[in-house]
Amino acid sequence: MTGAAMNDTLTKAAVLILLGPPGAGKGTQARMLEETFGLVQLSTGDLLRAAVAAGTEAGLAAKSVMEAGGLVSDEIVLAILKDRMAEPDTARGVILDGFPRTPGQAEALDALLAEQGLAISAAISMEVDDAAMVARVSGRYTCAQCGEGYHDSFKQPAVAGCCDKCGGTAFKRRADDNAETVGARLTAYHASTAPLIAYYETRGVLRTVDGMGAIDAIAAELGAIVGQVTA
Ligand code: ADP
Ligand code: ADP
Ligand code: ZN
Repeated sequence: MTGAAMNDTLTKAAVLILLGPPGAGKGTQARMLEETFGLVQLSTGDLLRAAVAAGTEAGLAAKSVMEAGGLVSDEIVLAILKDRMAEPDTARGVILDGFPRTPGQAEALDALLAEQGLAISAAISMEVDDAAMVARVSGRYTCAQCGEGYHDSFKQPAVAGCCDKCGGTAFKRRADDNAETVGARLTAYHASTAPLIAYYETRGVLRTVDGMGAIDAIAAELGAIVGQVTA
């Protein structure tokens, strides 16, 4: 179990999916939900970047695809996701951030959850304007020590150059967070991931939030949804 400010409103294991294009705010909100509810954020992007950094076979195969803004194969992503879901800290519940991203991944997730006697609590679509996502992604950076997310214009640390969460002073930017690659990533989102909105609507688990609002307002809306679906 994680989360310093965790409250104990969850009565069953939650499986939450955050759906949205690059820059929608999935990672930002997932980290806030982790703290509030003691859930575990599971970002396939983070897991893939760790595999690339570690130079594993999967990482080597994923690297060039990620740099080009394409989607890594379902096979690689599913293997990484399954390994992570098998770790004990996920027992209280997970927030899937950036997964599933294709219909094949969504079907594989359904099968995996069924095996474990789990079900999707909610798939939350963060609705945003594509045009605003280039600025969101281009200005994104994170604390090199704790991973807290920031933005050049929209979310600066209270003290310039010093992480609010851990006091770290080193920050990093992703190689694929540039204006050219964002275009390819948005195209991949609309072609492969956006159809999942209808997929989850059909299953009765779809919720939507306005992702263009302020970070705290969105967090409050998401918190209310999580409270509802896990009560
Ligand atoms: P995603 O995980 O969906 O790609 P992030 O959570 O990393 O998106 O957010 C992308 C960038 O936009 C980050 O720099 C983050 O600080 C910023 N951001 C997140 N949510 C908002 C928001 N509601 N308004 C303005 N900027 C935001
Ligand atoms: P963002 O939310 O900004 O799109 P992510 O960190 O979720 O970024 O993903 C970064 C990259 O990792 C994607 O552009 C893609 O190449 C790869 N990736 C992450 N998750 C998946 C997934 N579920 N399926 C396929 N590729 C993925
Ligand atoms: Zn930090």
